Amino acid sequence: MLPFNAISSVFVERFILALVMALLAITISISRWGYSVDQAFYDAVLTRFPSEPPKDLLIVAIDERSLLEIGRWPWSRRVHAQLLDKLREADAQAVAFDIIFPDPDRYDPQSDQIFSEAIANFGSVVLSVHMEQTYQGGQILEVLPTPILASSAAALGHVHVEYDVDGVCRAVFLKEGLGEAYWPHLMLSLLNLVYPDEDYEIPGLRPNESITNSSFAISRDYFNLIPLAGPPPQVESVSYTDVIHDRIPLRTLSDKVVLIGATAQGMGDLIATPFGTMDGVEFNANIYKSLLHKTTIIPVDVHLHWIFSCIIVFVLILSGAYATPRQYFILTSVYVLSITLLSAIFILYARLWFAPLAVIIPLLLFYPIWSWRRLEQAIRFLRRELYRAQQEAESSNQQIDTKLAERLTFVAKIVGLSQWQISDGSSDGGKSFNHMKPIDVVSSDNFNRVSISWDESSDMDTKYSQLWRSAIDLNANVVEKPEKKPAELVTATIQSLRKATQEAEINRKFTRQCLENIRGAIVVTNIFGEAILINDTARSSFDLVEDKPLHLLEFLHDFQIDGNWLHLIQTAILEQTDISVEAKLVNTEKEYLCQLVALNWQSKYTDTLLFSFTDITMVKESERARTEALHFLSHDLRSPVVSILALIEQYRNTKLNRDDVVEKSEVNSMLSDIEAYARKNLSFAESFLQLARAEIAGQSKFDLCDIHSVIDNALLMVRHPASQKKIKIDISRTMDDMWVEGDGELLERLLINLLTNAIKYSSSDTLVQVFAEVEGSNLVIKVKDQGHGIKPEDLPNIFQRFKRVAGQTNVSGAGLGLHFVEIVARKHGGSVRVESEFGKGSCFIVVLPAYQDDTLLDD
Ligand code: ADP
Repeated sequence: MLPFNAISSVFVERFILALVMALLAITISISRWGYSVDQAFYDAVLTRFPSEPPKDLLIVAIDERSLLEIGRWPWSRRVHAQLLDKLREADAQAVAFDIIFPDPDRYDPQSDQIFSEAIANFGSVVLSVHMEQTYQGGQILEVLPTPILASSAAALGHVHVEYDVDGVCRAVFLKEGLGEAYWPHLMLSLLNLVYPDEDYEIPGLRPNESITNSSFAISRDYFNLIPLAGPPPQVESVSYTDVIHDRIPLRTLSDKVVLIGATAQGMGDLIATPFGTMDGVEFNANIYKSLLHKTTIIPVDVHLHWIFSCIIVFVLILSGAYATPRQYFILTSVYVLSITLLSAIFILYARLWFAPLAVIIPLLLFYPIWSWRRLEQAIRFLRRELYRAQQEAESSNQQIDTKLAERLTFVAKIVGLSQWQISDGSSDGGKSFNHMKPIDVVSSDNFNRVSISWDESSDMDTKYSQLWRSAIDLNANVVEKPEKKPAELVTATIQSLRKATQEAEINRKFTRQCLENIRGAIVVTNIFGEAILINDTARSSFDLVEDKPLHLLEFLHDFQIDGNWLHLIQTAILEQTDISVEAKLVNTEKEYLCQLVALNWQSKYTDTLLFSFTDITMVKESERARTEALHFLSHDLRSPVVSILALIEQYRNTKLNRDDVVEKSEVNSMLSDIEAYARKNLSFAESFLQLARAEIAGQSKFDLCDIHSVIDNALLMVRHPASQKKIKIDISRTMDDMWVEGDGELLERLLINLLTNAIKYSSSDTLVQVFAEVEGSNLVIKVKDQGHGIKPEDLPNIFQRFKRVAGQTNVSGAGLGLHFVEIVARKHGGSVRVESEFGKGSCFIVVLPAYQDDTLLDD
């Protein structure tokens, strides 16, 4: 993510660019640059959606046929009078002459009179006013109909249409005149005649500048764009000659608004329109219809146009400030399409013409400019970051870029390799190397060849050679071969970035692997107690499920410590000290040393807690064992000696000091007491030593032992104490071979301990039974007695070190015998368990894995 100041600088840059683009919109709007494209769009919309053809309108066309039948133009005004009479007869509504009658008829002045009367008789007749320049650059004159005609006409109107720069006619000024826009358009006058009572508000764009009052310049007002009904002919039309020769039924003319104009070729009244050339009279018909239906199109005032263009461009560009380049590309397309569409909708429905190019060009231009700026910035940023990463990599490389020879010497020592050499790349090493191809190493300033050899007989096996190979590879990787960089900047930057990412990935993997391979359990949480990293050891030790989120308090809940976890965490954070505490995992016997460190990793305050758990169960166990051993030495082993010393002291004080005659029996009794204590001590010491031996016993010292002879030897050893208590020992065993891999002496001692206990904890005249059987792949030895038995609550403890059942002070023992049995059974891969009924007797069952070797059995 970009830092805040980077974001704000990006925004400022976009703001400035948006302003520039808005200015461009104004420039385009004012200069009318690209005007022809706008016009083409306008034409495309209107030609695709033409307006309705005018109805109730009739053109009386002065066509070729009329010229043929009536004669050459100009015709006598009597003909026009005749036409008017016909139209009157047919009851036509109104008539507009798109013909100019500037002069009186010099050859037939009577005809003017007749025509004038016909005009007057008809009533609703409009005549044309024409504005004319006498010569190029000369004065402009208003040419009115000759006075006799003008006076009888109901109204006059100018017949000018407006040509665009492309020579196409799309518009008209509804008022025009010399000095003052006085004359309404011929069609406006006609409309006013047809609908005299209506308060018709003249549509159109009014000029902004104050109307010039110069009587020599044309003033114009009420600018309107005229939507056309389509390519001509769209308006109903009859031939002039047909009308005056009664070839047209009168009802065709009845109630019609009639436009009289020339359509014959060569009469020069053709107009270029978006639909192609059109007769002036048809164009006028379109004007009439647009005025009647109020469908003329009014262009947006030029000032408003540039203000709107500027605002739209500015707002749209800023609106996409947070879009990605791809999103902005889509946005731009959507904007451009919407503006085009809106503009078309405005033309067709709102009858407003907003030229869209002034908005579209800046929007389209902004995208590449902005993308270029962003690309520039991105590349600059990437190069800066890459440079920094390279600097870091170089400095770390320098640290490990010690001399190749020095490094390989170390590896050679590990591998135990004596014959190896580095030569410069040019020579071949000078020796014969059968086992490995020489390896070329490119380092920062030179090129080396490493060659090694070893004897066929040497124990340089493949693993070692692989180690050697990877050591050399590693060295070669440290300083890479110079790569050919692509010339194109973006590709080169992307390549460098990819390399940097790969290196980062390798580093990440390396750190991860180191962490995973740490034997201690690591749990890292954020300051909210949510685990963000748990290594494999922690997962397996504490049964943590991979995908389940872990919360610290829930996790620590299972660890019992001296004190309070929250308090410890608080101390670690506030005092920034490392905390170590011993913790016990509930429901298990596991004990851990927990170390807690508060880190500030992302901010300057503590944001991360690192817990490491080291399993100290064994350490604690041996610590306990040592304490117990000390206790044993200081108490159990010491007390018989103290008793012996006390006996001697007592004897010296009571007997010897008083020079009494010492009875032989007294001496004997004292000596047997001393003997008993000494034996007890010896037995304790022996048990202790045996235990120590059992604890260090390892499989490396195991031999094959025959359990039959182990049992026989043990029975021999306990025969005496058994007979003393008149206890009979029975043996029941299988005749099968019973071999185990183990330590014969320890196994024998195991059996002696069990038998001794059976005798010790049984009354006289009872029976002790020994069973030896093969069960599957195991050998099972049972020692069963009819003694006191063991209470159920004591059963779980009797195999523990120094554990004796309470209230057995009359039976000597150190509480080590069964512990020894348990250890020896375990060391041999077996186990021991007890079944006992208090008051009835006990049965100790030892299970040992039998030695599995068919060859031995066959032998
Ligand atoms: P000790 O030196 O006390 O005999 P052991 O480890 O051999 O120590 O035995 C631990 C305890 O188990 C004894 O104190 C005794 O109470 C009980 N025990 C062991 N063997 C027997 C047995 N055969 N019958 C009853 N109790 C037994």
